[in-house]
Amino acid sequence: MPDMPVLIVGAGPTGLTLGLRLARHGVPFRIVDGASGPGLASRAMVLQARTLEFYGQLGLAEAVIGRGIPVQTVHFCEHGKEVAALSLKDVGAGLSPYPNALSFPQDDHERFLVDQLASHGVAVEWGTALHGFEDRGGHVRATLRRDGTEEACEAAYLCGCDGAHSTVRQQLDLGFPGGTYDQLFYVADVAVAGPPTTDLFLQLGERSLVLMLPVRSSGMQRLIGIVPAELGAGAAVSFEDVRPSAESLLGVRVERANWFSTYRVHHRVASRFRVGRAFIVGDAGHLHSPAGGQGMNTGIGDAVNLSWKLAHVLEGRVGPGVLDTYEPERIAFARKLVQTTDRAFQGMVGQGWSSQFLRRWFLPHLLPALTGVAAVRRAMFRTVSQTRISYRGSALSAGQAGEVRGGDRLPWTGANYAGLAGLDWCLQVYGGVDPDLARVAAGLGVAVDGFDWNGAAEQAGFGRDAAYLVRPDGHVALAMPQQDAAALGAFAARIGLNKGGVACRGGLVE
Ligand SMILES: Cc1cc2nc3c(=O)[nH]c(=O)nc-3n(C[C@H](O)[C@H](O)[C@H](O)COP(=O)(O)OP(=O)(O)OC[C@H]3O[C@@H](n4cnc5c(N)ncnc54)[C@H](O)[C@@H]3O)c2cc1C
Repeated sequence: MPDMPVLIVGAGPTGLTLGLRLARHGVPFRIVDGASGPGLASRAMVLQARTLEFYGQLGLAEAVIGRGIPVQTVHFCEHGKEVAALSLKDVGAGLSPYPNALSFPQDDHERFLVDQLASHGVAVEWGTALHGFEDRGGHVRATLRRDGTEEACEAAYLCGCDGAHSTVRQQLDLGFPGGTYDQLFYVADVAVAGPPTTDLFLQLGERSLVLMLPVRSSGMQRLIGIVPAELGAGAAVSFEDVRPSAESLLGVRVERANWFSTYRVHHRVASRFRVGRAFIVGDAGHLHSPAGGQGMNTGIGDAVNLSWKLAHVLEGRVGPGVLDTYEPERIAFARKLVQTTDRAFQGMVGQGWSSQFLRRWFLPHLLPALTGVAAVRRAMFRTVSQTRISYRGSALSAGQAGEVRGGDRLPWTGANYAGLAGLDWCLQVYGGVDPDLARVAAGLGVAVDGFDWNGAAEQAGFGRDAAYLVRPDGHVALAMPQQDAAALGAFAARIGLNKGGVACRGGLVE
């Protein structure tokens, strides 16, 4: 009998989110990290709307938003002068309860998550590193090292949220194909002269890029840029080395630099996200350029996807086969993302005519005009915010009703997200609820939410009198144009959905 249902290795944003969701599901787990405490480096700066929606399910979105700064205006600069300003205020209005991305540094974010876990009585075990593990078929036996001593920990499942150099991925001997960008990146926390600004500034140039974002907790600005090639990619670089280019590109004067670091960026996706009882999650499975602020948000999306599957398999609410859907759902998105962020990044810093067109004309001149077009604004928001992510090809997805298909994120009508707070399955009906359908749902322990058919539901793409079985992560599983009780029963039988409550926690489950 394993000691624990789940062992989480790594307490970065991915592992902490996985832990927080498991805690909300009531699943016991351990979370260990080889570092002595939460990360002090800010690294990822942007929380996308989809991540805020996940926090909304936990009732934490407002607390997170209060600690960050919504990204509402982007200023494009060229040689220190502003060439265009792009208003993103409420860019996702009508599409998400959170219409703007949020500037919220990773170090503040991680501390927030650690505190949230503590409020559930869970302490991260810092200074405790995974040394190795063995999948024994019925459970995993892991070796943990702390202060020079070793401890064995048995768990039903092992989740490797242990970042780019993942021990779990290496132990599984998984390929991590891809490459490394030639450019050396830097990140700095600085105070700039002049009145405080909460806007985002972006300077794009041949082989160069500097982004400046506000940090609420410190009142400072975060600079993310590329070290000028003439400084030598391998040499030790200080802020004073990059100061001249950063100041002239952005047209600012830096009064004080609190923190500076350089780093290399990779673009890679692991060959598998699951082997037996071990999963890899977040940066352990995929790395990409910071273009578009997607990396950390994708790790959080992985954690959300895996958390409910682990919880519901462990408690017998769904069949164990549901865990097989984690890899195909998330690896497909990771692969697509690596390709698109790679193209975007190469386009931004490349030397060819298409890159020059992008930098000189498209981003500063055409994009601001295009974003005046409602359809373009919506498409741009949906892509960058990760609200477009869909699992249409998944074994957990079926049917289409209106424009909404099985696998899609549940479109937001302004009134239909409250039921997602239960982190459980629910059935949403847009019109009168058929009693037979309600009876089958009740037999499955699935709550039915009936909504009046109205313009907002139609606008969101729902079908009149259609029914949607929604997963605990807010994706539609089954879309039914007619309220077909037999189809719901057959779908539930296929994935093993039942009232659950089979006491499997801490025990063997398959
Ligand atoms: C300098 C820098 C700048 C970045 N900028 C951006 C950005 O602007 N936008 C963006 O989206 N992303 C950015 N990223 C990427 C972003 O930081 C990552 O996507 C994010 O941290 C991934 O979170 P994670 O939890 O998956 O992994 P990590 O944050 O790497 O966390 C992994 C954790 O696992 C622990 N660990 C590792 N091995 C073991 C072991 N054997 N046993 C126990 N614990 C272990 C580590 O101590 C660490 O705490 C940046 C990354 C870096 C390095």
